[in-house]
Amino acid sequence: MITAAYQGTFGAHSDVALRAHFGARGEEVETVGVATFRDVAAAVLSGAARYGLLPIDNAIAGTFRDGYDLVAQYDLRPVREITWRMDHRLLGLPGATLAGLRTVEAHPIVLEECGRFLATLSGARAVPAADTGIAAGDVAKGGDPRVAAIAPPQAAERYGLVELAANIADHPDNFTRFLLVEAATEATPAEGFPRRTSLLFATRHEPGSLAKCLAALADAGVNLSKLESRPRPGTSWEYTFYADLDCDAAAPGAKVALDAVRALCAEFRLLGSYDVAGEPDAARRKAAPSTAVSAAPAPAAPANGQAKNYPKASRPTRPVGTRVRVRDVEIGGDTFVVIAGPCSVESREQLMATAVAVRERGAVMLRGGAFKPRTSPYAFQGLGWEGVDLLAEAGRATGMPTVSEVMSVDQVERMARSVDVLQIGARNMQNFDLLKAVGKTLTPVLLKRGLSASLDELLAAAEYVLAEGNPHVILCERGIRTFETATRNTLDLSAVPVLRERSHLPILVDPSHGVGVRRWIRPLARAAKAVGAHGILLEVHPNPAEAKSDADQALTFDDFAVIMQDLASIPAFDD
Ligand code: PEP
Ligand code: MN
Repeated sequence: MITAAYQGTFGAHSDVALRAHFGARGEEVETVGVATFRDVAAAVLSGAARYGLLPIDNAIAGTFRDGYDLVAQYDLRPVREITWRMDHRLLGLPGATLAGLRTVEAHPIVLEECGRFLATLSGARAVPAADTGIAAGDVAKGGDPRVAAIAPPQAAERYGLVELAANIADHPDNFTRFLLVEAATEATPAEGFPRRTSLLFATRHEPGSLAKCLAALADAGVNLSKLESRPRPGTSWEYTFYADLDCDAAAPGAKVALDAVRALCAEFRLLGSYDVAGEPDAARRKAAPSTAVSAAPAPAAPANGQAKNYPKASRPTRPVGTRVRVRDVEIGGDTFVVIAGPCSVESREQLMATAVAVRERGAVMLRGGAFKPRTSPYAFQGLGWEGVDLLAEAGRATGMPTVSEVMSVDQVERMARSVDVLQIGARNMQNFDLLKAVGKTLTPVLLKRGLSASLDELLAAAEYVLAEGNPHVILCERGIRTFETATRNTLDLSAVPVLRERSHLPILVDPSHGVGVRRWIRPLARAAKAVGAHGILLEVHPNPAEAKSDADQALTFDDFAVIMQDLASIPAFDD
């Protein structure tokens, strides 16, 4: 059994990250919680634990210098980098309500990371705690429903708490980089991942000395993935630099460059080279081969349409694609999700039967329209708020997050309280006031492509949402209007590779509306997965002949099962 020390108590992020890391490797781990990061180093040095976990930086809060300093001070050997998404949930006692909260406890950095959400809890005071696990334990022990904690979902199970809110970090890509360290013995063999090297150095107090160090690295084609400075204790105006390089220090080019840097420095500490096994770095993994320092030029930038209209949505802003989290469902990356449900919510029976059926067959999110944009004013217009409530009820009953269309600005606030994802329908893709209104929430938005909108117009529409501060946008290709009349719309699957290139946002395909004819949905669902969509949206009805909207494209439960089986045999697209 592997032992690994971390700072905190059961349910702290470090603890959860360690379990996930070793779990994914099929290795059993016993985690040992200690009080401080120094204690983590001590546990490793004394042999009380084989490994220790030290944070080195966080996407929002920046560098944890303690992590680097302890590795240097105690000569610990970094083995692997673990990148962990900090999944912050607001946890309280059963029966607690957001409005009733008076105190929210969390680690001070976590409070910082969730600042925007906390500001919406006007009645509650933020109180720092030693770590997230302790905060959750305090809430459970205290028995006061006015007190809540921010902690990972695993802490809810452990301490018998319920989730009052999810997705509460200011930024969805809230990653912490940890180093897994061991006592300095022989180097652990590399496992074929890309390698990274960390070092601390202090340049001489002479003009151009940092520039010369950087030039030595650049000349050898070594990519510097991080450089941060802080004043050196006891010396004025001299700085220690914390640097990470995308290479192994022993690679031939890197070795020469590092020797040159060493010669230019007053102080130089190579902390070591390690595997980058962290999951969100798949893109970088490809860019940085493990055995050699890459001096190859970057590929030519792809033609990027009207990117000036959508700087926030454009791919170069976030080369590693965005993943939108909806409760415990993640959309983006290399997972493929299926969202299913009726076109319209018609009754409790119809919706519950569909929800249970699609859940059993592998759907992860429930759709259902309550406000319907119909071509004719005499067609069924949806059940309105009654439908929204039924959808929320069915989502709770089956444990699925929900998505429903919001048609007007005045519906946004109430809809965001009831459903997990706000759908902007094709007919509203350029309803700019509506886009701004959903942009002011932090609820994920499913933005469908307009019937005659170009891909650049779709991305500019997404930009409206992002520009207001809501980063959780999912794009959806649902068919466009062309001269072809054989199908309801023309499903433009070429949108998927183009959007993947132009934007970092996740992309869904809706073959139901795209083709409009039940029997053609199956081949197009397969194609959507093969072409690289992050998921599909399907309309399913217990009795399609009686569906009050979009009856021709409604799938039976059996049709849906066949499609799900089909999809299982198509490999997920490698990002
Ligand atoms: C729907 O999802 O039911 C719908 C009306 O979609 P669209 O806006 O793509 O037509
Ligand atoms: Mn529909």
